[in-house]
Amino acid sequence: MRKKYLLAPGPTPVPETALLAMAQPIIHHRTPQFSEVFRETADLLKYVFQTKQDVLILAASGTGAMEGSIVNLFSPGDEVIVVNGGKFGERWGKISEAYGLKAHWINVEWGKAIDPAAVKAVLDQNPKIKAVLVQASETSTTVAHPIKELAALTKGRDCLLIVDGITGVGVFDLPMDDWGIDVLVSGSQKAFMLPPGLAFVALSEKAWKFQETAKCPRFYFDYKKERKNLKDNTTAYTPAVSLINGLRECLLLIKAEGLQNVFARHDRLARATRAASKALGLKLLAPEAPSNAATGVFVPEGVDGGKLVKYLRDEVGVTMAGGQDHLKGKILRIAHLGYVDTFDIIIAISSIEMALSKFGHKVKFGSGVGAAQEILIEGYK
Ligand SMILES: *Cc1c(COP(=O)(O)O)cnc(C)c1O
Repeated sequence: MRKKYLLAPGPTPVPETALLAMAQPIIHHRTPQFSEVFRETADLLKYVFQTKQDVLILAASGTGAMEGSIVNLFSPGDEVIVVNGGKFGERWGKISEAYGLKAHWINVEWGKAIDPAAVKAVLDQNPKIKAVLVQASETSTTVAHPIKELAALTKGRDCLLIVDGITGVGVFDLPMDDWGIDVLVSGSQKAFMLPPGLAFVALSEKAWKFQETAKCPRFYFDYKKERKNLKDNTTAYTPAVSLINGLRECLLLIKAEGLQNVFARHDRLARATRAASKALGLKLLAPEAPSNAATGVFVPEGVDGGKLVKYLRDEVGVTMAGGQDHLKGKILRIAHLGYVDTFDIIIAISSIEMALSKFGHKVKFGSGVGAAQEILIEGYK
């Protein structure tokens, strides 16, 4: 037998209470019983999004709410800035162009965060730009972009800040209303600790105004229609009933732990992972602006990162992620978001030590684990 561990940046492990809630018999969705669960869940989501606005719940993967946010807020020909620092930043650009928007791409070296001054320069030169599209946490490069600083730039302009918070919300502080984030998107299979299949999105008042004049074609992702249904504690189309039962459980766990404690836990696990990587001599992919969702490290010279990830998954039983595009085979991404705690990090680091050793890399067993423990112990009285 090989016990399996899931330490990828989505999907993430699901808590037992949520698994049991999702195993409940299906109830009909147009009933007071389901409406009650839905209402409670939608309220809890506002807590996690740190907003007074409605948080729409869509039956889709996270990309559904990315696409929905383009088609509901813009018209063909509208100009937007795309912060392209990785696969998910690139996705904002591809979706925008698919709907005929004019994208101003700002390319950022993979592993680096966007410099807000670069965004300001493009905004100043192009007053017609209607939005800045960015990731809070660019999962492909394990970078956290400076959202607060970007929000300060869009605030006084007729321009929205649209944030893909799919590995940001529930990981680190992103106070939507306080900072002035106009659109915040997330998905179920990351910090929300659920299986894939739900997308969430909240819009500021400013964003809802854009919605009134947007002309992109849309049907399934119709935010106005969803908001109207949400007021009646339901969804426009059949909701993913089981996932919403699970979501309620996961949100209750987050509420019980307290959002600030959830952020502190992610911060501790991330710092421990970075310290362990350093102790093992593994260079960080994003040393200057690392995301607390996942840590990317370069695999040592002479080690094939693709084979290492496969070995860890199939032989050792620990699923992590490799790199994409030009980082394929070169990096390892260790996720530490969602239903993850101290000993998941110990498993991740010790399995990396053992796998690297098997791959012929000289490793002092326990050196990474020890460095992680020095930080992880902060989590205990
Ligand atoms: C996982 C992820 C997505 C994509 O979400 P899907 O659920 O696969 O559609 C988008 N953005 C970021 C930052 C992600 O981590």
